[in-house]
Amino acid sequence: MYGFLRSMPKGSDLHNHLTGAVYAESFVRFAVANNLCADRKTLNLTAAPCKEGQVEAKQALSDPVLYRDMLANWSMLGWPMSGKSAHDHFFDTFLKFDKAVPGHYGEMLAEVAQRNAEANVQYLELMLSPDEFTSIGFGMKSAWNDDFGKMRTAMLDGGLRDIIAQTRKNLDQWEASRDEILRCHSSNKSLAEPGCAVKMRYIFQILRGFPREAVFAQLITAFESAAQDHRLVALNLVMPEDAYIPMTDFRLHMRMISYLKEIYPNVHITLHAGELAPGLVPPDGLRFHIRESIEMGKAERIGHGVDAMYEDDPQALLAEMARRDVMVEICLTSNDQILGVKGKSHPLASYLKAGVPVSISTDDEGVARSEMTREYMKAVYEQDLDYLTLKKMVRTGIEHAFLPGPSLWQDGRHERPIVYRGIVGSSMRTIRPFTLRLADEWTFLIHSDGISARADIAAVGIREPWEPEPLALAVLEQYGRQHDDALALVAMRRR
Ligand SMILES: [Zn+2]
Repeated sequence: MYGFLRSMPKGSDLHNHLTGAVYAESFVRFAVANNLCADRKTLNLTAAPCKEGQVEAKQALSDPVLYRDMLANWSMLGWPMSGKSAHDHFFDTFLKFDKAVPGHYGEMLAEVAQRNAEANVQYLELMLSPDEFTSIGFGMKSAWNDDFGKMRTAMLDGGLRDIIAQTRKNLDQWEASRDEILRCHSSNKSLAEPGCAVKMRYIFQILRGFPREAVFAQLITAFESAAQDHRLVALNLVMPEDAYIPMTDFRLHMRMISYLKEIYPNVHITLHAGELAPGLVPPDGLRFHIRESIEMGKAERIGHGVDAMYEDDPQALLAEMARRDVMVEICLTSNDQILGVKGKSHPLASYLKAGVPVSISTDDEGVARSEMTREYMKAVYEQDLDYLTLKKMVRTGIEHAFLPGPSLWQDGRHERPIVYRGIVGSSMRTIRPFTLRLADEWTFLIHSDGISARADIAAVGIREPWEPEPLALAVLEQYGRQHDDALALVAMRRR
């Protein structure tokens, strides 16, 4: 089963936190490189010089017990022995290894690209903080104003524009470092690592556990950066949804997003919502997060949505999600580990029954010690999904990715692709113009596993008047996967 699922093309992973996607073994290397000290008991990292009770991180390379303890404390490996709930152990890992992260974004992106190439995943939307959290510090020093418009202007004029400019530079640098590690631009194409073929876009994550000024400053930075940089396709709220500020400021956060979405209508929104379970919060805390994230927060996708059946009028909610085409990013390992929700208690079957679009994501494959193929294993073994349902979820993920371009399916529900048999496909790597008589209502689905993403015709760099051959070549060169055959079909209307 694992071998079969591993080789199956999985399309996208749309819910993947970059720092959570990195395995603890890498954080040990980063901690050594950053010259950090580790508390011998908690394994929290701090800057040198080491104090009483701390050891140099580099000792882990020659001390197997220290090394083992780092892996245990910086991932779910050590949870059973931690004396904490899985939820708390999970979220605490991020606070323990966070000082190892600076300076290593390129390596992190490369690691995640390689792992997903191995799992036959073609496209990632990674959650990260391209401002390296500077907008949080900026917001903490800013004054609150109930008038969002005035506060936005004051923040932009007060220094936020510099932070926004820096996010683009950071992304440039991190991507260049990734490409160098993976040898993506090597003149000898055979030296390029498979990870080069995994296309990446980014989601600006807002740490919602901070005071309202800091959340607002992050949101402006996220919206403004995404409006300026096509690599940043969306934003999301992160950190435990059940914590004090995320629970008490929930509606305030939704109002902020609703306000800013009016100003930046082209920036996409996906929100963690309903990553909750009975007992984790009081019952009334389970009743409205998914619905309000969609209606007030304008979420086009929902992360987790685990407590859906505890919301008010759950069937109406599911029907609304199906009608609005709001997709749920399903994270089975994470929900099992953090919330203890799995098998029949998971709402996946209800979502499928109600026709709510769903696709499979990893959430935090590094901290969880998982990976995409094992998410699919869980979907088969614990959720009883058959092959066609899995394939449909793969298509749903591609359809709900925040890439530009029109839908690939006739009805938006991935059930009626149009196939024209024969004629093309038998002769690869050649340009073959031909003429067909078409009816007006025909739509083309260009279906090829060799094309790595939905091609954006405006971005291929070919000016009008468009000719079929240069367009096909540009699509093949820019979007064709290096390790696969590809088909680009250009259909043009005769004038
Ligand atoms: Zn998440």
